[in-house]
Amino acid sequence: MDLKTNHASPVLTESSSVNISRLAFRQNMLPCSSPTTVLSTGLHLTVPRKKTGVLDDVRSTGWLDAMIASSPPPKRVTRDANEKDGAADTELSYQTWMVKYPSGLNTFEKIADHAKGKRIVLFLDYDGTLSPIVDNPDFAFMHKSMRDAVKRAANCFPTAIISGRSREKVLDFVKLTNLYYAGSHGMDIMYPIHKISSDGHTCPVEKQLKKFNLFQPASEFLPMIDEVFNILVEATKDIAGATVENNRFCVSVHFRNVDMTNWPMVGGIVHDMLKNYPRLRLTHGRKVLEIRPIIDWDKGKAVMFLLESLGLNERDDVLPIYVGDDRTDEDAFKVLREGNRGLGILVSSIPKESSAYYSLRNPSEVEMFLKRLVRCKKSHAL
Ligand SMILES: [Mg+2]
Repeated sequence: MDLKTNHASPVLTESSSVNISRLAFRQNMLPCSSPTTVLSTGLHLTVPRKKTGVLDDVRSTGWLDAMIASSPPPKRVTRDANEKDGAADTELSYQTWMVKYPSGLNTFEKIADHAKGKRIVLFLDYDGTLSPIVDNPDFAFMHKSMRDAVKRAANCFPTAIISGRSREKVLDFVKLTNLYYAGSHGMDIMYPIHKISSDGHTCPVEKQLKKFNLFQPASEFLPMIDEVFNILVEATKDIAGATVENNRFCVSVHFRNVDMTNWPMVGGIVHDMLKNYPRLRLTHGRKVLEIRPIIDWDKGKAVMFLLESLGLNERDDVLPIYVGDDRTDEDAFKVLREGNRGLGILVSSIPKESSAYYSLRNPSEVEMFLKRLVRCKKSHAL
C-alpha cells in the first residue's frame, strides 16, 4: 500500500540535501554587579540592575520558576553518609513513583502481551531518549550500539524519530535511512516512500532517500523564524554559554551552559522578544527555551499524521508506542492515552507527572527495551 497523502496541507517532494542547522555560540561574560534575589524556589540569584523591568516580567509570569522546574540539576557523586542517606531517599521516592509509572523493562511481558497480534509502530524522541543530554547540544551523538538497536527495530516496525531539533540535524545524528523523521516538534516531517507489506513490515522503496515526501504545516513562518533567530543571536551574544539554535520551524535558546545567575537575563531577552511576535509562543524544555509558531500542531499531531499517512490510524490491530523524555513529548503521550490508542513511555531518572503509562530510566534502558522488542518480534512472540 502506498502512503496516503490526503491532507489539506501541502505535501511536497524534495531531493535529499542535508543541511547542518545554524548554530551560534558566544563566550563573552556580562558584568554582573547587582542585588541578590530569593526566588520562590529558594534559589538565590544575582540580577543585573539595568534589566530590572524585563526581569520582573520574567518572574511575575512564572518563567523563571518554569526554567528551573524544567531543568533538574545533574546527579552528584555521593561523598558521605548523609549524602548516601539522601541517595537512598531519592531511590525510594523513584521506586514509589514507579508504582504509577512501571518500568517498561520490568513489565515488558505485560507490554508484549498487550502487543500480541498487533502491528507496533515506534515513535522515538532523540535528545535524552536516544542520546544522552550533553553540555553542548551540537555533540549529542548517539552511541553506535543505540544506532544499531534503532536500525534493527526499524527493520521490524515502522519507526519515526520526532524531535525538537531541525530535521536535518536529527538525520545527521541518527544517519539511518529506514526511518521517518519529524523535526521542529513535528512541524517538518520527512517520510520515505514505503510500502506496507501484508505482514505489516515497511519496505523502503528509496533506500538512499533520493526522493521522499515532506509535510510542513508551518512553512509560512520560515522568514519569521529566521528573523527571530538573528535577533536572539545578537541579544544573547554577551551571555556566556548561551546558545541559539535555528531548528528551521522553531528557535531554541539553550541555557544549560549559562551560569544560573544569568538565567533571568536569558528569560528576559526571550520574553521581551516575544512581545513583538504575537504569532509565536514559548515552550520550556530541559534547559532550553523554545520559540515556535502558534499553530495547532505538536508532537501529538505529528504522531497522528504519521499513523494516518501509513494507513494505520484508528485501527484495533495497531499499537503505537512513543518513547520520550521531555515536556513536549507529553502531547504525544496524551494523544495515545486518549481512547487507548497506544502506549507512552517516559524516559526519566527522577519522578515527575506524565501522561505516559510506563517509564524507562535513561537512554541505556531505552536501548535495552528496543532490543527486547526486536527479540520478541523475531521469536514470533509479538
Ligand atoms: Mg528529549
